[in-house]
Amino acid sequence: MTAQRIDGIALSQKLRADVTLRTTALKAKGITPGLAVILVGENPASQVYVRNKVKACEDSGLHSILEKHPASLTEAALLNRIDALNHDTGIHGILVQLPLPAHIDAHKVIEAISPAKDVDGFHIASAGALMTSMPGFWPCTPYGCMKMLESIGYELKGKHAVVIGRSNIVGKPMALMLLQKNATVTICHSATQDLKAITLQADVIVAAVGKRNILTADMVKPGAVVLDVGMNRNEEGKLCGDVDFAGVEQVAGYITPVPGGVGPMTITMLLVNTLEAAERIQAIDFSV
Ligand code: NAP
Repeated sequence: MTAQRIDGIALSQKLRADVTLRTTALKAKGITPGLAVILVGENPASQVYVRNKVKACEDSGLHSILEKHPASLTEAALLNRIDALNHDTGIHGILVQLPLPAHIDAHKVIEAISPAKDVDGFHIASAGALMTSMPGFWPCTPYGCMKMLESIGYELKGKHAVVIGRSNIVGKPMALMLLQKNATVTICHSATQDLKAITLQADVIVAAVGKRNILTADMVKPGAVVLDVGMNRNEEGKLCGDVDFAGVEQVAGYITPVPGGVGPMTITMLLVNTLEAAERIQAIDFSV
């Protein structure tokens, strides 16, 4: 069996076309969805990420601002900027690119963002909303994975989903989203014993570790759906995921490639969240 690939680029294009349509409709009502992206320091990877986010906004008709600050920016100054953006009616989403320099408490900074503008979905209020199935913003990467499952019409109810990784931004929210769709969920991590015995039982596997070949063909049940969140570099410096793609592709039913899988979906869901933040403001009747 050769797995069907879930194409994150094609799905992103479809979802971004919808974002553009809804953005145009909102603009006609006098609201342009706006995203503020804050970068502190000179981390080269972060510079690429923020550039891509801002470009994606522009391409879809959203307004975006990129604030670049030197690594010497104080925590207090950053908190002041966030406070100003919280009150800026032209900005509906605020994203602080992580990691931050060591002298800044990232947790404090994320908690300073208004939950109504927390389009990364990292605020405790967003995490709590996801946990209690209340409206809020879902973290973009696992949200993108859910859209990929939706795109193949996959019914999660009653299925066994195994998430490898338990970070606050990918693994844990991923598990909660799968649970919300009535999957039976197992979360694995670095202390998990016999990972293979667990993944072999899985109908859906999400690999979010950051280690090449954490999932190989002998660990996958024939026909399983495999979503690869990992971003690593191989010996030749090429981007690759956590999954041994060539091997697992022969066993799985569906698989996401790296690059061109989950990665593009992450930025797409950021656009969706920013648009939804603006739509929620529009839906509030201030005349009451
Ligand atoms: P992270 O915070 O480093 O978490 C990694 C998780 O993997 C931890 O929970 C860790 O367990 C677990 N782990 C480590 N070794 C393991 C092993 N041998 N077996 C099972 N679990 C193991 O990473 P992250 O932020 O979640 O990101 C994970 C990967 O996804 C990275 O490659 C990252 O670059 C990528 N990523 C991609 C996107 C995208 O848009 N495509 C977005 C975000 C992240 P412990 O908790 O026990 O340490």
